[in-house]
Amino acid sequence: MNRGLMVVVSGPAGSGKGTVNAELLKTGEFVYSVSATTRAPRPGEVDGVNYHFITEDEFRARLDEGGMLEYTQYCGNYYGTPRKEAEEVLDSGKHLILEIEVDGAMQVKRRYPEAVLIMLLPPSYEVQEQRLRGRATETEEKILARLEQTKFEVRRLPDYDYVVYNHDGGAVECAREIQTIVRAECHATKRSPTAASDYFRKQND
Ligand code: 5GP
Repeated sequence: MNRGLMVVVSGPAGSGKGTVNAELLKTGEFVYSVSATTRAPRPGEVDGVNYHFITEDEFRARLDEGGMLEYTQYCGNYYGTPRKEAEEVLDSGKHLILEIEVDGAMQVKRRYPEAVLIMLLPPSYEVQEQRLRGRATETEEKILARLEQTKFEVRRLPDYDYVVYNHDGGAVECAREIQTIVRAECHATKRSPTAASDYFRKQND
Protein backbone atom coordinates (compact mmCIF):
# COMPACT_ATOMS: atom_id res chain seq x y z
CA MET A 1 0.00 0.00 0.00
CA ASN A 2 1.25 3.51 -0.79
CA ARG A 3 1.97 5.86 2.07
CA GLY A 4 -0.38 8.81 2.41
CA LEU A 5 0.73 12.34 1.63
CA MET A 6 1.53 14.95 4.21
CA VAL A 7 -0.65 17.93 3.28
CA VAL A 8 -0.04 21.27 4.96
CA VAL A 9 -2.97 23.68 4.84
CA SER A 10 -2.09 27.16 6.08
CA GLY A 11 -4.23 30.24 5.83
CA PRO A 12 -4.71 33.56 7.58
CA ALA A 13 -7.59 34.29 9.93
CA GLY A 14 -10.81 34.45 7.94
CA SER A 15 -9.62 32.03 5.25
CA GLY A 16 -12.00 29.36 6.49
CA LYS A 17 -9.35 26.66 7.07
CA GLY A 18 -11.38 24.87 9.71
CA THR A 19 -14.52 24.61 7.57
CA VAL A 20 -12.59 23.52 4.49
CA ASN A 21 -10.69 20.86 6.44
CA ALA A 22 -13.95 19.59 7.92
CA GLU A 23 -15.20 19.12 4.34
CA LEU A 24 -12.00 17.29 3.41
CA LEU A 25 -12.45 14.87 6.30
CA LYS A 26 -15.87 13.91 4.95
CA THR A 27 -14.20 12.38 1.87
CA GLY A 28 -12.64 9.66 4.04
CA GLU A 29 -9.28 10.12 2.28
CA PHE A 30 -7.83 12.46 4.89
CA VAL A 31 -7.08 12.38 8.60
CA TYR A 32 -6.67 15.56 10.63
CA SER A 33 -3.44 15.91 12.59
CA VAL A 34 -4.39 16.84 16.16
CA SER A 35 -1.72 19.27 17.36
CA ALA A 36 -0.49 19.66 20.90
CA THR A 37 -0.77 23.14 22.34
CA THR A 38 -0.15 24.97 25.59
CA ARG A 39 -2.98 27.44 24.99
CA ALA A 40 -6.18 27.13 26.99
CA PRO A 41 -9.16 25.43 25.33
CA ARG A 42 -11.78 27.76 23.86
CA PRO A 43 -15.45 27.11 24.63
CA GLY A 44 -16.55 24.02 22.74
CA GLU A 45 -13.06 22.71 22.07
CA VAL A 46 -12.49 19.10 23.09
CA ASP A 47 -9.19 17.68 24.31
CA GLY A 48 -7.88 15.08 21.87
CA VAL A 49 -10.22 16.26 19.11
CA ASN A 50 -9.34 19.91 18.41
CA TYR A 51 -5.99 19.82 20.18
CA HIS A 52 -4.10 17.88 22.81
CA PHE A 53 -4.10 20.53 25.54
CA ILE A 54 -0.89 20.10 27.54
CA THR A 55 1.25 22.12 29.93
CA GLU A 56 4.43 23.91 28.95
CA ASP A 57 6.51 21.36 30.88
CA GLU A 58 4.86 18.50 29.02
CA PHE A 59 5.41 20.29 25.72
CA ARG A 60 9.11 20.82 26.43
CA ALA A 61 9.52 17.18 27.49
CA ARG A 62 7.96 15.99 24.22
CA LEU A 63 10.18 18.34 22.26
CA ASP A 64 13.29 17.09 24.03
CA GLU A 65 12.48 13.48 23.21
CA GLY A 66 11.98 14.35 19.52
CA GLY A 67 8.24 13.81 19.71
CA MET A 68 7.30 16.82 17.56
CA LEU A 69 7.55 16.79 13.81
CA GLU A 70 7.53 20.61 13.84
CA TYR A 71 6.57 23.24 16.36
CA THR A 72 6.22 26.96 16.84
CA GLN A 73 5.46 29.62 19.36
CA TYR A 74 2.45 31.69 18.36
CA CYS A 75 0.88 34.51 20.41
CA GLY A 76 2.72 33.31 23.52
CA ASN A 77 1.71 29.63 23.25
CA TYR A 78 3.44 26.55 21.89
CA TYR A 79 1.91 24.47 19.10
CA GLY A 80 3.37 21.28 17.68
CA THR A 81 2.56 18.28 15.50
CA PRO A 82 2.97 14.94 17.31
CA ARG A 83 5.36 12.85 15.21
CA LYS A 84 4.23 9.32 16.14
CA GLU A 85 0.56 9.92 15.35
CA ALA A 86 1.50 11.52 12.04
CA GLU A 87 3.66 8.58 10.99
CA GLU A 88 0.92 6.10 11.89
CA VAL A 89 -1.62 7.90 9.69
CA LEU A 90 0.77 8.09 6.74
CA ASP A 91 1.64 4.40 7.10
CA SER A 92 -2.07 3.58 6.98
CA GLY A 93 -2.22 5.09 3.48
CA LYS A 94 -4.44 8.04 4.44
CA HIS A 95 -3.41 11.60 3.71
CA LEU A 96 -2.61 13.71 6.75
CA ILE A 97 -3.81 17.32 6.99
CA LEU A 98 -1.60 19.60 9.03
CA GLU A 99 -3.49 22.82 9.74
CA ILE A 100 -0.46 24.82 10.82
CA GLU A 101 0.96 28.31 10.47
CA VAL A 102 3.74 29.44 8.16
CA ASP A 103 6.76 28.94 10.42
CA GLY A 104 5.80 25.29 11.07
CA ALA A 105 5.02 24.80 7.38
CA MET A 106 8.56 25.88 6.49
CA GLN A 107 9.98 23.31 8.97
CA VAL A 108 7.87 20.62 7.33
CA LYS A 109 9.10 21.68 3.90
CA ARG A 110 12.73 21.35 5.03
CA ARG A 111 12.30 18.02 6.82
CA TYR A 112 9.73 16.40 4.51
CA PRO A 113 10.42 17.69 0.99
CA GLU A 114 7.72 15.31 -0.30
CA ALA A 115 5.00 17.18 1.65
CA VAL A 116 2.44 19.23 -0.29
CA LEU A 117 2.04 22.80 0.94
CA ILE A 118 -1.23 24.58 0.24
CA MET A 119 -2.19 28.10 1.27
CA LEU A 120 -5.85 28.91 1.58
CA LEU A 121 -6.69 32.57 1.07
CA PRO A 122 -9.81 34.73 1.12
CA PRO A 123 -10.41 36.24 -2.35
CA SER A 124 -8.57 39.43 -1.29
CA TYR A 125 -7.20 41.29 1.71
CA GLU A 126 -10.24 43.57 1.52
CA VAL A 127 -12.65 40.65 1.80
CA GLN A 128 -10.60 39.18 4.65
CA GLU A 129 -10.89 42.46 6.57
CA GLN A 130 -14.66 42.49 6.02
CA ARG A 131 -14.94 38.89 7.24
CA LEU A 132 -12.95 39.53 10.39
CA ARG A 133 -14.98 42.64 11.23
CA GLY A 134 -18.20 40.78 10.40
CA ARG A 135 -17.47 38.16 13.05
CA ALA A 136 -17.81 40.88 15.71
CA THR A 137 -16.45 38.46 18.29
CA GLU A 138 -13.05 40.08 18.53
CA THR A 139 -11.74 43.42 19.71
CA GLU A 140 -10.43 45.95 17.19
CA GLU A 141 -6.96 45.39 18.60
CA LYS A 142 -7.13 41.64 17.90
CA ILE A 143 -8.49 42.20 14.40
CA LEU A 144 -5.62 44.57 13.61
CA ALA A 145 -3.08 42.09 15.03
CA ARG A 146 -4.49 39.30 12.85
CA LEU A 147 -4.43 41.53 9.76
CA GLU A 148 -0.83 42.45 10.50
CA GLN A 149 0.04 38.77 10.87
CA THR A 150 -1.53 38.16 7.44
CA LYS A 151 1.04 40.39 5.75
CA PHE A 152 3.85 38.21 7.08
CA GLU A 153 2.02 34.98 6.20
CA VAL A 154 1.02 35.87 2.65
CA ARG A 155 4.55 37.02 1.83
CA ARG A 156 5.59 33.36 2.21
CA LEU A 157 3.13 32.28 -0.49
CA PRO A 158 5.92 31.60 -3.04
CA ASP A 159 7.29 28.94 -0.66
CA TYR A 160 4.00 27.02 -0.93
CA ASP A 161 3.16 24.64 -3.78
CA TYR A 162 -0.44 25.71 -4.31
CA VAL A 163 -2.86 28.53 -3.52
CA VAL A 164 -6.60 27.96 -3.17
CA TYR A 165 -9.04 30.88 -2.85
CA ASN A 166 -12.02 30.58 -0.56
CA HIS A 167 -14.87 32.64 -1.99
CA ASP A 168 -17.88 33.29 0.21
CA GLY A 169 -19.50 30.00 1.15
CA GLY A 170 -16.99 28.11 -0.96
CA ALA A 171 -15.73 25.55 1.55
CA VAL A 172 -17.04 22.58 -0.43
CA GLU A 173 -15.46 23.90 -3.62
CA CYS A 174 -12.12 24.52 -1.84
CA ALA A 175 -12.14 21.02 -0.40
CA ARG A 176 -12.78 19.63 -3.88
CA GLU A 177 -9.86 21.66 -5.25
CA ILE A 178 -7.54 20.40 -2.52
CA GLN A 179 -8.70 16.84 -3.13
CA THR A 180 -7.91 17.27 -6.84
CA ILE A 181 -4.45 18.67 -6.06
CA VAL A 182 -3.66 15.77 -3.75
CA ARG A 183 -4.92 13.16 -6.20
CA ALA A 184 -2.78 14.69 -8.96
CA GLU A 185 0.24 14.77 -6.65
CA CYS A 186 -0.19 11.04 -6.03
CA HIS A 187 0.41 10.51 -9.76
CA ALA A 188 3.56 12.67 -9.91
CA THR A 189 6.39 10.60 -11.41
CA LYS A 190 8.84 12.12 -8.91
CA ARG A 191 6.96 10.19 -6.21
CA SER A 192 7.58 6.82 -7.90
CA PRO A 193 11.25 6.79 -8.88
CA THR A 194 11.15 3.00 -9.40
CA ALA A 195 7.95 2.97 -11.48
CA ALA A 196 9.75 2.20 -14.75
CA SER A 197 11.82 -0.69 -13.39
CA ASP A 198 8.77 -1.98 -11.47
CA TYR A 199 6.87 -2.08 -14.74
CA PHE A 200 9.37 -4.50 -16.29
CA ARG A 201 9.75 -6.64 -13.20
CA LYS A 202 8.37 -10.15 -13.63
CA GLN A 203 5.16 -10.70 -11.72
CA ASN A 204 6.53 -13.44 -9.48
CA ASP A 205 9.83 -11.74 -8.61
P1 5GP B 1 -5.45 28.77 17.23
O1 5GP B 1 -4.90 29.11 18.57
O2 5GP B 1 -6.25 29.90 16.63
O3 5GP B 1 -6.19 27.46 17.22
O4 5GP B 1 -4.20 28.56 16.25
C1 5GP B 1 -3.29 29.59 16.01
C2 5GP B 1 -2.42 29.25 14.80
O5 5GP B 1 -1.61 28.13 15.12
C3 5GP B 1 -3.23 28.87 13.56
O6 5GP B 1 -2.63 29.50 12.44
C4 5GP B 1 -3.06 27.37 13.48
O7 5GP B 1 -3.13 26.90 12.13
C5 5GP B 1 -1.65 27.22 14.03
N1 5GP B 1 -1.36 25.87 14.54
C6 5GP B 1 -2.20 24.98 15.10
N2 5GP B 1 -1.56 23.86 15.41
C7 5GP B 1 -0.26 24.02 15.02
C8 5GP B 1 0.89 23.17 15.05
O8 5GP B 1 0.89 22.03 15.49
N3 5GP B 1 2.04 23.70 14.55
C9 5GP B 1 2.11 24.95 14.03
N4 5GP B 1 3.27 25.36 13.54
N5 5GP B 1 1.04 25.77 13.98
C10 5GP B 1 -0.14 25.30 14.47
